[in-house]
Amino acid sequence: MTATRVLVLNSGSSSVKYQLLDMRDSSRLAVGLVERIGEETSRLKHTPLTGGGATSREREEPIADHEAALKAVAEELATDGLGLDSPELAAIGHRVVHGGLKFTEPTVITDEVLAEIQRLVPVAPLHNPANITGIRTAQVLRPDLPQVAVFDTAFHTTMPESAARYAMDVKTADEHRVRRYGFHGTSHAYVSREMAKLLDKAPEDVNVIVLHLGNGASASAVRGGQCVDTSMGLTPLEGLVMGTRSGDMDPAVIFHLARVGGMSIDEIDVLLNKKSGLIGLCGDNDMREIRRRIDEGDKEAALAFDIYVHRLKKYIGAYYAVLGRVDAIAFTAGVGENAAPVREAAVAGLEELGLAVDGELNSVRSDEARLISPEYARVAVAVVPTDEELEIATQTFALVRDRNA
Ligand code: AMP
Repeated sequence: MTATRVLVLNSGSSSVKYQLLDMRDSSRLAVGLVERIGEETSRLKHTPLTGGGATSREREEPIADHEAALKAVAEELATDGLGLDSPELAAIGHRVVHGGLKFTEPTVITDEVLAEIQRLVPVAPLHNPANITGIRTAQVLRPDLPQVAVFDTAFHTTMPESAARYAMDVKTADEHRVRRYGFHGTSHAYVSREMAKLLDKAPEDVNVIVLHLGNGASASAVRGGQCVDTSMGLTPLEGLVMGTRSGDMDPAVIFHLARVGGMSIDEIDVLLNKKSGLIGLCGDNDMREIRRRIDEGDKEAALAFDIYVHRLKKYIGAYYAVLGRVDAIAFTAGVGENAAPVREAAVAGLEELGLAVDGELNSVRSDEARLISPEYARVAVAVVPTDEELEIATQTFALVRDRNA
């Protein structure tokens, strides 16, 4: 029997998201989430998708650690006849947030690879440790199976030095690996390719600006399938206004808050990562709630929206200039796929750049990739739903299939 299934694991510090896919037709066999690992109130939500109508099962019981979480997931999958001991399972694909400069491609995990992911912990202290725990746990469960790391940073390693380096002392930067790495890479890779498909062109023939607008948000400039610039930097804090992150600001704000505001570095870290962006500006980070408040005349919400869109527009302009010629702009992720007012406002007034949005097309709700620009517009504007799990599974399967070929 040929093994065609891939389990995708996205391990956070207290959560594990997973999907089991069959790569013969890229279909999902099961999806699920374990939350609040290590707390009394842990929860596992599992949805098998094989038997027609999807019925979720939930378990609410203390799940002590990632190993217990994966064991519980394995039990749920086994209940549906999809056990991890199945010979049909080809590999486990792990989302790994930071791959530094070394990992430019998906990589089969060996002890050396794991050690390198560990060495990158100082530049990704929130993410890489959880990813490592997920990998180690999965290795215990199926030591014989290839485990593949798919890095959020990999797609951005093609950025030229002019875009990747900060203008600071080179020696200090290199000593501490300070440079722009970029994140959401699997999404930017997937969406830029899907955008080319939508235009019926090869990825090599199109220049695309991808706007991944979720709770975290980033923009990228993709020339002929290769990333040439992206808005996130050393960490996912740089760039666009996000749900809870500030995005770009004068770095001296940090000195000011420390010296004049008496705040500690850790307090400022939490402020800029968790209490800024939309939530800092208006108390809400969900674009649905912000739009509802705007409709009721809420001025604070309206200003937060304007600041969000202003920054977005600046990046569209900047990446237009970086690319020189733009064929398409692709909106994706929670806000990008669902918030028509954000899309409309982001390109409003940019007709001189060949950019426009058709009001009617923009208001259509659909899960499909679709154009929203009028026929006459020089640049295609589109909504392209992202699918990071499918991209991780596809990259993982391509790697293990090639190895077995
Ligand atoms: P993500 O990180 O891609 O899952 O995106 C989550 C964010 O998408 C939420 O915080 C909301 O701001 C936004 N979002 C999700 N659904 C909608 C919707 N129907 N309309 C507007 N924004 C939405």
